[in-house]
Amino acid sequence: MNQEIETLIKLQKMDISIDSLKNKAKEIPLCIEKTKTDFETKNTNLESLKQELARIQLDKKQKEMDLHTKEEERKKHQSELNKVKKNDQYFALQKEIDQLGKDISVIEDGILNMMDSIETVNTKMKQEQDLLKQEEGKLGQEINRFTGELESINKAIADQETQRREITATIPAESLTLYERIRKSKKGMAVAEVMKNNSCGGCHMTLPPQVVNEVRKLDRLVLCESCSRILFWKGE
Ligand SMILES: [Zn+2]
Repeated sequence: MNQEIETLIKLQKMDISIDSLKNKAKEIPLCIEKTKTDFETKNTNLESLKQELARIQLDKKQKEMDLHTKEEERKKHQSELNKVKKNDQYFALQKEIDQLGKDISVIEDGILNMMDSIETVNTKMKQEQDLLKQEEGKLGQEINRFTGELESINKAIADQETQRREITATIPAESLTLYERIRKSKKGMAVAEVMKNNSCGGCHMTLPPQVVNEVRKLDRLVLCESCSRILFWKGE
């Protein structure tokens, strides 16, 4: 095969490889973003537990204040009890004191229940925090893996671009310009093989016999009449 067309085929293979590496490199930051977002959603369990804890603590504080008020009231009535002279006043006061006692014990039960709930939520939060810590470790590893992958891809791109420069230096300027122009307009594929049925490997149109003959002669670069790609013949 003609040296020039062979070099162009080599160049095309290299360009396809560089393009695919560049696409991979573009995807990696997106993968990192997605991994981070996934981790954030795992954080929401802990957030809702924190909110639940704050709510119970607030309720508990409210109940403790109620308890304090009722206890003060009971104390006040108990001291009044010694001062009243009339029986009906005494009984009325005693009744109020009894009612306050009942209220106080209901509030105390409520506070005990809340303390249990706080303990339960705290346990759940501890578990959730442990889980998140593990997930955070995994997240770090994932990000390191992606970063490492990106580094090696970038290195491969740099290596291949060096090789590419070495290859392009051996191609006549006119042919290289032609190649670059077609590659740009055809989104990557500038060189196409003449297939066994004499069609163009790029656009699949059947090539006239004289064109196929021209390609096989290897005297000059021959372009496909319909897609303008540079044609080559692999041989029998
Ligand atoms: Zn074609």
